[in-house]
Amino acid sequence: MEKFLLKNIENPSSASLEEYVGAGGYGSLNKALQMEPSDIIAEVKAAGLRGRGGAGFPTGMKWDFASRDTKFPKYLICNADEGEPGTFKDRPILEKNPHLLIEGMVISAHALKSERGYIYLRGEYPHARIVLEKAIEEAYAKGYLGDNIAGKGVGFHLSVHQGAGAYICGEETALIDSIEGRRGQPRIKPPFPVNVGAWGMPTIVNNVETLANIPLIVSIGAEKYAEIGNPECPGPKLFSVSCCVERPGVYELPMGTTLKEIIYDHAGGVRGGRELKAVIPGGISTPVLTPDGIDCPMDFVNLPKRGSMLGSGAVMVFDDTVCLVKVCWRAMKFFEHESCGKCTPCREGTGWLRNILERIEGGFGREGDIELLQDIALSITGKTFCPLGDGAAGVVLGFIKNFSDEFMYHITNKKCMVNKDSQSAG
Ligand code: SF4
Repeated sequence: MEKFLLKNIENPSSASLEEYVGAGGYGSLNKALQMEPSDIIAEVKAAGLRGRGGAGFPTGMKWDFASRDTKFPKYLICNADEGEPGTFKDRPILEKNPHLLIEGMVISAHALKSERGYIYLRGEYPHARIVLEKAIEEAYAKGYLGDNIAGKGVGFHLSVHQGAGAYICGEETALIDSIEGRRGQPRIKPPFPVNVGAWGMPTIVNNVETLANIPLIVSIGAEKYAEIGNPECPGPKLFSVSCCVERPGVYELPMGTTLKEIIYDHAGGVRGGRELKAVIPGGISTPVLTPDGIDCPMDFVNLPKRGSMLGSGAVMVFDDTVCLVKVCWRAMKFFEHESCGKCTPCREGTGWLRNILERIEGGFGREGDIELLQDIALSITGKTFCPLGDGAAGVVLGFIKNFSDEFMYHITNKKCMVNKDSQSAG
């Protein structure tokens, strides 16, 4: 497939405005400025674009809700808080193709009649901040940002807001709290941010990759865009592939490419030709799959049928040298650390899960520990403010469902079934 989101990024100057414009950049903005805002929204709806941050909500529908709200100002926020282990798909856009994101944001702002935007950037991406701020400066200098963009009477101002490195600030309502200057914690929904968001005004939060898809939709039109990938979830998709593969990295492929193709045709197969043991398809919060589940299209429709989710599209591959009890324990250490503490089942439950997993992994597991893990996980599911609690519980339930033998072996034999000398953390 011809690359669009990662087009030209091998070029060392790909982040410069000159290179971007030379490769046809900002052509979609010029086209969009001739269009009525409502026509752009209709085009995005017809294209079938679904949010690429993890939830997969139809972007055009979100925009439609926001456009019907008559309150002004409206804020457009790009969610660049990419903090889940295994997820680094947005990073090449932020660091190497920043003008694609800016162009996508200006078109989106025109469609939504928003005059103020922010890129909420994760604290751990300092280089991306430098690149983005330079690109924003260039865009202002050339009139792609400002009060009167390309002389068409459309105004949009954009700046970068760097977070302090809290995973929960990737959740849109916590992100809004953080941007307002408070400690980032999720808010109850409804009201949804499209009506009551930043400073109480309508606020549209879209992921980096989602916004980077907008220039493509405008340039080729909804009909052609909908022909890319899976008809139920069309368009190009970025997959970050990591752990035990020959060629880890970010791959731009049509949505619906199978997990098997991603691992074997694009990422070079399992490292050293070893045996595949398990795959996490969409970032650490998505349930693990066994090797017989990998012939599955990577999209928002087919993965749930196999008991997992597309999430952010972060594929983590584990071979037969990896202890999966250790992977599950480390995942829980992450969730416990990142729990914002607002609700009890998540704040306490992730700590209990981590504690039990730690003792099983360390060879001190007790009879009944698997049932105890399941009981705690089910007590968290559906009882928390935001998806972090459900994600943590789903990880434990998924590992136990698919790899209970490995957990049992640890408990019964007080050691791992994988030889310690050949063991890898993935
Ligand atoms: S589920 Fe966890 S992270 Fe989410 S609001 Fe509750 S305590 Fe905070």
